[in-house]
Amino acid sequence: MDPYIRISTLNDFTFCPKSIYFHQLYDNVEKGLYQDTPQVRWTLNHIRIDHGTYSTSKDILQWTSVYSEKYNLVGKIDVFHISKKSLMERKTHISQVYQWQIYQLYAQYFCLTEMGYQVEKLKLYSMDDNKVYEIPIPDDEEIREFEAFLDKYQHFNPALSDFVPNVEKCRNCIYHELCDSSLA
Ligand code: SF4
Repeated sequence: MDPYIRISTLNDFTFCPKSIYFHQLYDNVEKGLYQDTPQVRWTLNHIRIDHGTYSTSKDILQWTSVYSEKYNLVGKIDVFHISKKSLMERKTHISQVYQWQIYQLYAQYFCLTEMGYQVEKLKLYSMDDNKVYEIPIPDDEEIREFEAFLDKYQHFNPALSDFVPNVEKCRNCIYHELCDSSLA
């Protein structure tokens, strides 16, 4: 397990804690070999940002690496409007806002603030229907819950924990061929 927490794996951990091992394994594999269609669409959307086709403004950080020493987090932000103090994460489609999407934004928020940026707005943007979901800046209780989630992530060990796979999740898991706990 990596000594740090990759922001991009927070969704995997929420889906199934064990899947973060395979996520990290696949990071070293050519992405086109294993990504399903939604994942490919997500990658293409982010490549457009990465190559600056979203905006060339110096006021905007795009697909920029961020890090939090306090929370041991590493990753990339999607789009941050510096003067508007507004952080946005774009998704291909959002039918409902999930906790892991909020936690990804929190993680990016804490990284940016630790790096000295002021962040006052958090947004999720659903690209294919052009909807924006405003997420409040976390309050003390939400920060405690987020910290507990990170602590659980950092200390997860399938050999020691009472981890029990979920057959429905295993059936929908892109890692099930490799996973020795798979029920699929
Ligand atoms: S196959 Fe099942 S147990 Fe294994 S990572 Fe996927 S969801 Fe988790």
